[in-house]
Amino acid sequence: MCGIVGYYGYRDCSDVLVDALSKLEYRGYDSAGIAVFEDGNIKIAKSKGRLSDLVKKMEKTGKPKGIAGIGHTRWATHGEPSDINSHPHCGKNVTIVHNGIIENYRKLKDYLISQGKTFVSDTDTEVVAQLLDFYYCRHSDPVKAIIETTEDLEGSFALAIMFNDYPEYIFALRRESPLIVGVGENESFIASDVPAILKYTKNYYLLEHNEIAVLGRYGAKIYDLHYQKLQKELKTADWDMDAAEKCGYEHFMIKEINEQPTSVKTTVLPRIKDGMPTLEECGIDDSFLCGIRQIHIVACGTAMHAGVVGKYAIEKLARVPVNVEIASEFRYKSPILDKSDLVIIISQSGETADSLAALKLAKSLGAKTLGIVNVKGSSIAREAEKLIYTLAGPEIAVASTKAYMVQLSVMYLFAFRLAFAKGKISQSECENYIKLLNEIPDKISEVIENQLENSQYIASKLINSDSLLYIGRGLDYALSMEGSLKLKEISYIHSEAYAAGELKHGTISLVTEGMPVIAVATQDDLFDKTISNIKEVKARGATTIVVLKDGVELPSDVADYIISLPKTIDLLMPMIACVPLQLMAYYSALLRGNDVDKPRNLAKSVTVE
Ligand code: GLU
Repeated sequence: MCGIVGYYGYRDCSDVLVDALSKLEYRGYDSAGIAVFEDGNIKIAKSKGRLSDLVKKMEKTGKPKGIAGIGHTRWATHGEPSDINSHPHCGKNVTIVHNGIIENYRKLKDYLISQGKTFVSDTDTEVVAQLLDFYYCRHSDPVKAIIETTEDLEGSFALAIMFNDYPEYIFALRRESPLIVGVGENESFIASDVPAILKYTKNYYLLEHNEIAVLGRYGAKIYDLHYQKLQKELKTADWDMDAAEKCGYEHFMIKEINEQPTSVKTTVLPRIKDGMPTLEECGIDDSFLCGIRQIHIVACGTAMHAGVVGKYAIEKLARVPVNVEIASEFRYKSPILDKSDLVIIISQSGETADSLAALKLAKSLGAKTLGIVNVKGSSIAREAEKLIYTLAGPEIAVASTKAYMVQLSVMYLFAFRLAFAKGKISQSECENYIKLLNEIPDKISEVIENQLENSQYIASKLINSDSLLYIGRGLDYALSMEGSLKLKEISYIHSEAYAAGELKHGTISLVTEGMPVIAVATQDDLFDKTISNIKEVKARGATTIVVLKDGVELPSDVADYIISLPKTIDLLMPMIACVPLQLMAYYSALLRGNDVDKPRNLAKSVTVE
C-alpha cells in the first residue's frame, strides 16, 4: 500500500518530499522516511510513526539539504512498524523505497546471505536493495542493474531508487503497484498517486508495468526492460489542488461527505442524454447489455457494499440475476463463468489487488468485464474491457464516503439502462428514474444540513458502547452493512450488520440492556416487518435509533432516537440514508478522539492481498 515519492529539480527536496508524502499518507502511516543527495552523499531521515513524527525528528536533527531525493510513507507488510524497518532501505551502493510485496523475498534473501550480504531489517524491501546492489556491482550501470533485479523479483512493486554514484539522477520502476512521473518546468517527480504532485504540476506520465523512469537535469526519460527509450503520452490531471486539501474542514472525511452532492452530479450528468441514461461513451450499448445473462459484482469493503445495493436495483428492475462476491474469495474459488456473464469490478483506487486479480481471472475465463473505478488510468481501469469512471475527484480519507455514493450512482444508472435495454421498463419509466436520481444531490445536501447536529448528538450516545447492531431488510440491510463498516473503521466500536428478520435466529442473544441498535427502515413494503424486529430488540433492553422517511408514523415506544430523512422512491433511499450513517460514524470517531482520516491499521488503497 504505502506511498512513494521522488524528486529531481531545483527546490528544497526535503520540503517537496514531505509535502508530497503528506498527500499520500492515506496510503499508509506506520512510518515515514526520506533520502536526499546532500553534497553528493545520500542523507537519510526516517522514523516510526506518522509523517509529523519524521518532521519533528528532522527539526531536531536537521533536514537533509539537496535537490534530488526519494520518500516513503509505510503500511507495513513484512516486519513490524519500527525505525529499522522504515524505508528507505540500503545496499552498499543503493538506497530505495518500495510499495508492494516481494513474494519470493525469502529465497532471494537466503541467496544473498550466501553471497555475503547482511541484512538489518525484517522487510522484503531490503532484499531488493541488496539485489540491486549485487547487480550494480556486476554492471556499474544503474538501468541494467534495475532490469536484472526486476527479472528476479516476484510480486508487486513500485520502487524509487538512488545510486550513490549517480547523485544527478533518481530512478524508478513499476510492476503492479501504481506509479506516475510528474513533469514540471525544470523539475520532475515520482509519486504513487496524482494528488502528491498537483501543487507543482498537473502533467504526468503514467508508468506501465515493467517501465523504468530516470529523472535528471534533462527531465524524465522512460525505458522498457530492453533498455529501449519509450515515447509516452503526457497526461494532464483534471483534479485541482483543492481536491487534495482540506479547504477549511477539520478532516478530509467531513469534507468528502459534504462533497457528495457535487460528486453525484459530476458522475451522473454526463451519462444522461435527452433524459435517458446512456453509457455508450463507456462502450456500453444496448446490444452489449442485451447479451448479459448473469452478473457478478466483485469488490472489497465499501465498494462491495455498493455492489450489494446494485444487486437489489439490477434484480428488481432488469430481472438479471446478480451475485455479489468478495474479491479475495472470488479469486480463489472456481467461478463458473462464460461469455454471457458480466463481471463488474468496483474499486475506488482501481488498484485493489484482490479486485484486480479477480478481474484478470474473469477475463481469462471468457466473461465480459466492466470496471467501475474512480482513479483514471489505474490498473483496473486499464484492464477492464468496459469502464465507467466514477467522477468523485480524489478521496483522501481512508473511510470511503463520496466514492461509495458515486458507486451507488453508477449502479443505478447501469440498472436503469440495463432494464430498459432488456425491455423490462419503458422509456417513460426510465426517464422517471433519471428524474428522481437527479433530485438526489439536493436531498443529500438537505440531510447534511438537517441531520448534522442530530447525528452528532446520537453519536455521543454511542461512543461508550462496546458493541452495537445495525439492522434492516432488503436495501436497508444492504445499507446497514456499509453503516456498520464505517463505524468500525474509524470509531473502533464493534458492530455488526444484520438482516433484521435473521436476528432472532441467533444474534439477538447479544442484545442486552442499553445496547444501541441502529435500525434502517426506509422501505415501505418492509416497514412493518422491520418495526416488529425493532420491537423485539427494544423488549430486550436495546437503545434504538431508527432511520426512516419524513412523515412516516412510528408506533410509540419503538425509537429512542429518530433520524428522519427526505423522501424519494424506496429504490433510491440508500443514497439518502447513508448520509446520517456516515455522519454518526464520523462524530463517533471524533468524540472518541480517534484520528478520523487515518484510522489505525488501515490504508486506503489496498494494493496487497
Ligand atoms: N513490503 C514493504 C514493507 O513492509 C512495503 C509495504 C508497503 O507497500 O506498504 O515494508
